[in-house]
Amino acid sequence: MKYQKTVTSQQSIPGELMQKAPPQITGNREPGIDPLLHGMRKRYAGMFLGRHLGLSMCAGWLPVFERVCEDIDLALGEERDDFRWVQTKEKFGSARWYWTMDEKSENLFDILANVSGAFSDGMPTLASQRRHSVAELVKAAEQKTRTMCMVCGLNGHRQEHRGWYVVCCEEHFQLLKHQPERFIHQCSTRSTT
Ligand SMILES: [Zn+2]
Repeated sequence: MKYQKTVTSQQSIPGELMQKAPPQITGNREPGIDPLLHGMRKRYAGMFLGRHLGLSMCAGWLPVFERVCEDIDLALGEERDDFRWVQTKEKFGSARWYWTMDEKSENLFDILANVSGAFSDGMPTLASQRRHSVAELVKAAEQKTRTMCMVCGLNGHRQEHRGWYVVCCEEHFQLLKHQPERFIHQCSTRSTT
């Protein structure tokens, strides 16, 4: 299995580095899907269809992401095709995974407003209940990543190095400090152990 960076405009890179190389949102070019997510895209094709704003992933958080995709798939059942990922990224040392469950809006901020306002107008409908369930699943998964090393998935905490915020175990924080290129490489490569 090789993990070539076939989408050169979008590499999975952590923290502030990611912000220096933002996805190309405009133009005809589709923002990239991280090679780490190719397996997930095969398994849950519907979640990765259509326009998105770039889907990146840190290797250490991939199992949590895989789990949340599985949970969403189970929770939605027949309605699974309504759901898709809009953007997955790392920001300031935690996972930010944005999604939508209808095509009413392509705008990320509208989508976020919809999510938080799921129960705002009277009796919850079945659709709003489903949306709420998904919101809870994704929120819980994001929370989990706050204490997981973004490289290896072991216990970690938020740390800062030269303006980069990362969630790391001690070993990988040392790697970041001394060999940042290796840190980035390991962060975007699935562990084989
Ligand atoms: Zn680690």
